[in-house]
Amino acid sequence: MATRQTPDFEAWESLLLQAARQGGAGVLGSLLTHWQGQAPRAVIQCDCGQRMISQGRRAKGLLTTLGAVPFRRSFYQCAQCRQSRFPDDERLDMVNTTYSPGVRRLMARAGSQTQFEQAAEDLLCYAGLKLEPREIERVAEEVGRQVERWLSEEEEQLICTGVSAPPKLAAGTKFYVSFDGTGVPVRKSELVGRPGKQADGSARTREAKLGCVFTQVGLDKKGRPQRDPDSTTYVGAIESSTLFGWRMYAEALRRGLAQASTVVVLTDGQRYNHTIAQTHFSAAVHIVDLFHAYEHLTLIARSLWGPAAESPQAWRDLLEAGEIKQLIRKAGKTLPNSAQAKKSLRKELGYFENNALHMRYAEYREQHFFVGSGVVEAGCRTVIGERLKQSGMQWSVRGANAIIALRCCIMSGRFEDFWATRTR
Ligand SMILES: [Zn+2]
Repeated sequence: MATRQTPDFEAWESLLLQAARQGGAGVLGSLLTHWQGQAPRAVIQCDCGQRMISQGRRAKGLLTTLGAVPFRRSFYQCAQCRQSRFPDDERLDMVNTTYSPGVRRLMARAGSQTQFEQAAEDLLCYAGLKLEPREIERVAEEVGRQVERWLSEEEEQLICTGVSAPPKLAAGTKFYVSFDGTGVPVRKSELVGRPGKQADGSARTREAKLGCVFTQVGLDKKGRPQRDPDSTTYVGAIESSTLFGWRMYAEALRRGLAQASTVVVLTDGQRYNHTIAQTHFSAAVHIVDLFHAYEHLTLIARSLWGPAAESPQAWRDLLEAGEIKQLIRKAGKTLPNSAQAKKSLRKELGYFENNALHMRYAEYREQHFFVGSGVVEAGCRTVIGERLKQSGMQWSVRGANAIIALRCCIMSGRFEDFWATRTR
């Protein structure tokens, strides 16, 4: 009796997958050829107005998710100005690239998730695609720039003509807009003339601004506000606070700003935060993050009593109660000896004075508002930090912005939407 051997199941799997891919690539090639044979002859115009002349076919190696597929497409040239076109490439969304749309989507996604070397290994392992890290970088950034263009067209439309289909917000929805910044390490050439925080006054990073919009209806068991699941979307870029303000505003409009009855802006109280809040969200309640306020309180205590000091409970109670005037009076009653400590105390008292209107914490708690900017801070870590702030990284601003756009789009659950509109 023959012994029944246990099969190497994984070997079966990988052999069959390979065969399926090879067979699929063959079918794909035939489909392409068939489509080309069926396509009606169109007149191909040049930009200069001349009719272009067919010059026969030119071959290019096409890499698809099924593997290499030979592709011979018609080549047209203008007799007048020598410009050339490949109309089939244009129809199939494969102009100036040898990667199929499916492969480019995978490259963009993988390159947005992890370092390009790692992405190349992942794509080889998961999709059987052998790709250079450099190529993944190039394609991911190209797709990121397409996301940027898509978003800026959308931004213009939202601001000029409004929301085409305003989202429905549940009754009692609190609508949050929150933003913050985080340093992204960039190449030296991107830092010329920029003062920084390094010991010698130079800079190593550029600030990426990240904004998020989320909603809240319910409370958790302890009566604390609870973010609506999957309600957070992100926008971000290395750009001026003015441009970022518009970007943030457009995203809020898209999410239903105009429909929201309660709008809260949550920031850490930097000066540009106030400008954006006043310019674009003037009807909102602007809350300065309570936890940053606590840190500033600690700094006051340290300027008075040394580097290990903590703020007294009485101050903390005043802060929680939102009694900022009283807090300033109490904390500023005694002056430290050294000039430097005096300067630091003055600065910190100034922080409370400037933000006092946005620190009515007792009132906010009563209305069950979030009083911390934890959501956007976590966003700075997950959306920006985990991909762009790994050790040894040095970005160009252009490259960083492309990847930030891509990550915001993916993490806002909009990548499929983008891809669909892109090919339409
Ligand atoms: Zn021409």
